[in-house]
Amino acid sequence: MPELPEVQTVVNGIKSKLIGLKIKDTEVFVKKLRYPVPINLKNKINKSLLLDVERRAKYIILRLSNDYSLIIHLGMSGRIIIGKKKEIISIKHTHFQLYFSNDLVLQFIDPRRFGCILLRKTSKLLEEKLLKHLGVEPLSKSFNQNYLYEIASNKASSIKSIIMNQKYIVGVGNIYASESLYLSRLSPFKIGNKLTISESDRLVRSIKRVLKKSIQMGGSSINDHTMISGKLGHYQNKLQVYGRDGQKCRNKSCQLPIIRIVIAQRSTFYCSNCQK
Ligand SMILES: [Zn+2]
Repeated sequence: MPELPEVQTVVNGIKSKLIGLKIKDTEVFVKKLRYPVPINLKNKINKSLLLDVERRAKYIILRLSNDYSLIIHLGMSGRIIIGKKKEIISIKHTHFQLYFSNDLVLQFIDPRRFGCILLRKTSKLLEEKLLKHLGVEPLSKSFNQNYLYEIASNKASSIKSIIMNQKYIVGVGNIYASESLYLSRLSPFKIGNKLTISESDRLVRSIKRVLKKSIQMGGSSINDHTMISGKLGHYQNKLQVYGRDGQKCRNKSCQLPIIRIVIAQRSTFYCSNCQK
């Protein structure tokens, strides 16, 4: 499932290729993904310009010149590819295509169909219920040691489940939670209310570092993620614990095998020696 760095990679890619261009045509091949695809999408967005692209949590927001915004979510397996019209190939599970001036085409592909495309008035985005109740952006200043400490201090759940809860912090899923906890040398099972302020500081810094590094490398292409060019990201080669069960801990003075434990159908990867 794409997490924040993968979605940010897609946003950066769309920005670099399509800002300022006009939507010449729209093709929709499906009636419903996670939610119904807006009826008459074509009539509402054709001829508008793409003014800006931003990310909120894992939503991609395309602001158009006619006071509409397209909200796209990649769901479990969605990806976006941008290419020249004459070079586009028909890819299985392509659900919609936006044709831009300059002969560029944006394709949305999603085999599992948990993604979505929605159309909202830009002036009403702040009232949108999907966006309204989201937690803080982990790369923003609001996500700091005090914020995490406060959130964790009255919780008896594990620190891993707290940092993965979208109500508190958005975009951190299993991969980046596992990696950040390893980097901050904290056990994923540590209980929220046992977290000290200095541990909170370490964890916040680690989350930001891991996310930023992954964005720089085009995200992790573990499942379906690709950059908008269709090429894979590279962060999967940097992973310290995620998917490395049985392999040696990368800390030279440790080298014990990374452990994988499954709780509530979710894998947790960690080093029992390095993470306390
Ligand atoms: Zn270790």
